Amino acid sequence: MNIVLKVTHLPSLPSYILNLCKFPFDYTSQRFYMIEGIVLAMTIITKYTQGARFICSEETCQYSEGFHYVRVHTPGATESATLRHDFVCSLCTSPVREDMKYRVLGDKQLVEMIDTKAINALQGFSTSDIHFRFQSLTVFLRDELSNTMKIGNRYKVIGIPISMQSSSQVTLCLEANSVHHSSTTGPSCISETFKYLLSLTSGSYWRFTAALAYNFASQILPPGIYNTLKLAILMSLVHTNDRDDSTAVYLDILAMTNDSLILERIMNYSVCLVPRGIRHILSSDIFPTVMKDKHGTGTASIQAGSAILAQGGVCFIGELSSHKKDKLEQLQSVLENRAATIFISGKKYGQDTDQQVTLPVQTSFWSFIDVDSVSKKHVQKDNIHIGQMDLNIISANLIDAFGLVIHCSESTFWNSSLPIANFLFKKAVGAEETAYVAPQEFTTQDYEDDFPG
Ligand SMILES: [Zn+2]
Repeated sequence: MNIVLKVTHLPSLPSYILNLCKFPFDYTSQRFYMIEGIVLAMTIITKYTQGARFICSEETCQYSEGFHYVRVHTPGATESATLRHDFVCSLCTSPVREDMKYRVLGDKQLVEMIDTKAINALQGFSTSDIHFRFQSLTVFLRDELSNTMKIGNRYKVIGIPISMQSSSQVTLCLEANSVHHSSTTGPSCISETFKYLLSLTSGSYWRFTAALAYNFASQILPPGIYNTLKLAILMSLVHTNDRDDSTAVYLDILAMTNDSLILERIMNYSVCLVPRGIRHILSSDIFPTVMKDKHGTGTASIQAGSAILAQGGVCFIGELSSHKKDKLEQLQSVLENRAATIFISGKKYGQDTDQQVTLPVQTSFWSFIDVDSVSKKHVQKDNIHIGQMDLNIISANLIDAFGLVIHCSESTFWNSSLPIANFLFKKAVGAEETAYVAPQEFTTQDYEDDFPG
């Protein structure tokens, strides 16, 4: 008889929460904990042994028949605890062997989760060559829990922490007992400043929006410039949500500019305003990839990539021509279909058949093109041999695939370059007085409060 206990809730006390950001973990008490986090990677479903029957290999021994040696999987145990060759008979100490007819198999899936707070580490990075990794935790999903989690979503998992030893490494894992989807609800609040502004501007349909765009990002740029871009960014930000919603609307933005520094600043600043804003770094992958699972199963593990981690939010991918041609083709396909397809070779990952997995990409993409640098690359093209250099020519189809293309390189730029430089210098030397007089002060917090997430 096998009794399975399913825990739906734990007391909401600190001692029941396993915080992935805090060390050391308690994995010796063998009791239930709750973790909350985002799914970063997951393997395909494989089999494990739920139970097996062993019989004594000595035919004259009375334990060579009957069900004296039945081994079943217990939470936290590895496959080798159930199936091994060195078990011996307790009566005659002869080796016992498994009776394969009675082996019971179940489904198993390994999921890697990160703490929700770890997303902050992926926001607003401007350097492209940093390699870093944050601590993730492996969660074992067995039987009916397999396939209950989607990559990129946020969950609360109740389970028992265990430590797994493979060769010289000890890995901390969690054997899941129950899984619950978790998301925050709607915008936290509308700030008082915005309510006041709305009351002042209620006479016109446009005045409120115009005032918001005018003042937006005034912490990093003087108000009143790049208004169209700022309005588009605001619109894209209000479309973010933290629900698993396949009908959600996304607003992708592509900006054409002569000044990538300003564009980088404003997009980096804005992407940090939503909980799921990811600044993609070039050394990682934008879209999901497949690699071998590191927990000894050798099965295929799907890694989320920046776009899936930014689920329901925004993925800022930097300068468009900095990406390789094949990635740009993939981006175009994702923008058009809102899904990424990955191929899992059966031969490579120990499966009978090849698999194709299609994952929804529920993210708004932001990017920009530095018109100057792209045109310089085109000029160089004539001076080098064909095939010597990847020129990253951006196709018109890719540009079309973005929902909104904004030209920021018009005359407005030239008129504004002096105030921008002035503003940046004053900020850089930490001048106490404000470099401009804004009609109304808006803080970053005002804008942060306004977006759902
Ligand atoms: Zn025996």
